[in-house]
Amino acid sequence: MCGIVGYIGYREAYPIVIKGLKRLEYRGYDSAGVMIYDGEAVKLCKTKGKVVDLEERASKEITTNGTIGIGHTRWATHGVPNDVNSHPHLSNSGDLVIIHNGIIENYAPLKVELIKRGYVFHSDTDTEVLVNLIEEVQKNENIKLGKAVQIALNQVVGAYAIAVFDKKNPDEIVAARLGSPLAIGIGEGEYFIASDASPFIEYTSNAVYLEDGEMANIRLHKKMKVRKIQDDSLVDPYIQELQMNLEQIEKGGYDHFMLKEIYEQPNVIKDTYRGRLHPNEGIIQMAGVEDNLEKFLNADRIIIVACGTSWHAGLVAEYIFEEFARISVEVEYASEFRYRNPIINSKDVVIAISQSGETADTMAAIKLAKENGAFVFGVCNVVGSSISRETHAGAYTHAGPEIGVASTKAFTTQITVLTMIALRLAKAKGTLSHSDFNRYLQELELIPEKVKEALKTNDRAKEIAAEFKDAPNCLYLGRGYNFPVALEGALKLKEISYIHAEGYPAAEMKHGPIALIDDQMPVIVIAPIQGHYDKIVSNIQEIKSRSGRIIAVVTKGDTQVRELADYVIEIPETSDALSPLITTIPLQLLSYHIAVMRECNVDQPRNLAKSVTVE
Ligand code: GLU
Repeated sequence: MCGIVGYIGYREAYPIVIKGLKRLEYRGYDSAGVMIYDGEAVKLCKTKGKVVDLEERASKEITTNGTIGIGHTRWATHGVPNDVNSHPHLSNSGDLVIIHNGIIENYAPLKVELIKRGYVFHSDTDTEVLVNLIEEVQKNENIKLGKAVQIALNQVVGAYAIAVFDKKNPDEIVAARLGSPLAIGIGEGEYFIASDASPFIEYTSNAVYLEDGEMANIRLHKKMKVRKIQDDSLVDPYIQELQMNLEQIEKGGYDHFMLKEIYEQPNVIKDTYRGRLHPNEGIIQMAGVEDNLEKFLNADRIIIVACGTSWHAGLVAEYIFEEFARISVEVEYASEFRYRNPIINSKDVVIAISQSGETADTMAAIKLAKENGAFVFGVCNVVGSSISRETHAGAYTHAGPEIGVASTKAFTTQITVLTMIALRLAKAKGTLSHSDFNRYLQELELIPEKVKEALKTNDRAKEIAAEFKDAPNCLYLGRGYNFPVALEGALKLKEISYIHAEGYPAAEMKHGPIALIDDQMPVIVIAPIQGHYDKIVSNIQEIKSRSGRIIAVVTKGDTQVRELADYVIEIPETSDALSPLITTIPLQLLSYHIAVMRECNVDQPRNLAKSVTVE
């Protein structure tokens, strides 16, 4: 997955590259490295660990103020995280330097061939094979870097975003992408290369997002040339004006990005529905839906494909679409869907959900759905991302950059978008009464205030966290709309605190998990007054009878559950269908505080990365 950064221009490259790597660290953080060219020599520094470890080492090893540099923060796919496997990688001659995000799937036969030709490999990575392949092509054909990269890339299978530098022609960086994102910032007399635009937003607001299968020759004092890797045809790149600002990608006084993002939810939910939701006029309008309304209305069913937290948002949407719009919905893990020969036809609407818009499995599922004639609609956060471009239409969540690896505001804004789509379809189909439709619109507008209210549970969540931080296991239970919230609550806890947790539909507990309950087991029950309240009260009784320790998320003023539970967290009342937007808030806070108390790295949990661009 990894983050890549490059700079070529007139400024000192090192600080730009290091700062850029810090901003991209959400993408991978098991090792990092940097190369700076000082006009004569290539200075390389790499280390296992985080960018701060690299910085410490580089402060002794990189003493140049060279104006060309590349850097990498890794999420290992091939070879353990160690100094040698870290990027950048050098070719055997030492002339070529590469950074790579992705996987070269046919690296093994290529490596065998290169070894036969005398190449020696120092790392276990697929990337070192690619840089030597480029060198071999360059040597044989006696050509410049750009052409050699192009020929080599036509021989590889897999996914990549790369930046390559050649000491022999040091006024140029060659970048290319297939399946992994790559943005190029265009300044006055300088260029920036990065996995997303965050490393260069203070320098330029003009960026080109390379399309899959494109490469760019980026040369000092020259206009950048973009061409298709496959057939060499020149492309006129579209220069985008960036909307991002620096404040959005900084912590803004919070200890962690995750906490900042949890607290941003009232505002970003508003941003999500701004201009789309008009309760006074009784209108919901989303361009991507309006333009394709017939497709949605004629659909036999909706298939939602997603991974991780987005998959949980999809599950919430299943309940909402079926209830509001009476359309049958299936929710699929993208990774399973793409490999199981699913039945898809032209009357299906496929909704793909992905925060980053780069999730490799979701992307593959989209391609499969398109091949089979389905209409594919994307729900993404990152503007201009691969999924937003690959889908027929879509709606952005407008949550702003989400940097904490554990997703929070992406989840609630995805649910907001999906709820609006369901309501729009319900209106068109007449499956909700006029008064219910208007009531939901009004209620949706009030959600940011209710989320604000729910955020006041922070202190309570902290107290409870102190009590349960050492628990080895945890069970999350919910029913109906709040079953996916239970799954999401458990996922959050697993991700950032490394406590084993499971989410279950509360009634399913009797079919297995109840055996786990004893006086040591914390059971978090989502029990708002709307929905299946009586049923969940019975489930709580069952846990109590087995001495389980109950933490209940309840509606303000609740009395019945309060009597049974060891701890309650009160949230404002809302209708059942919209309750996931509120009930999820204290669960995010609880996981956050438990992880902090366990001294875990909240924003960069072990083994994870934010944007899963490998399958
Ligand atoms: N496949 C490369 C490696 O394992 C790149 C992984 C990444 O995207 O970080 O080094």
